[in-house]
Amino acid sequence: MAILSGCQEGKHTPKLEEIRCPHCGEDMEVFIAMGGAADKTGRTTADETCDACGYVIPEGTPVTDLR
Ligand SMILES: [Zn+2]
Repeated sequence: MAILSGCQEGKHTPKLEEIRCPHCGEDMEVFIAMGGAADKTGRTTADETCDACGYVIPEGTPVTDLR
């Protein structure tokens, strides 16, 4: 029986990416979907809240809008 390490690189593994908060400009980290359906790739995988100002980036926002 294989032991799952939990850190295997899969093409559907979300990537942690540093972006700037669109509200206050502070750096924040969001999980971005990699691979999978084309309409999901490059988008946030969950609602992400800015630690600095509390702004919420909704799930499914394209990261290209946030860089
Ligand atoms: Zn902010």
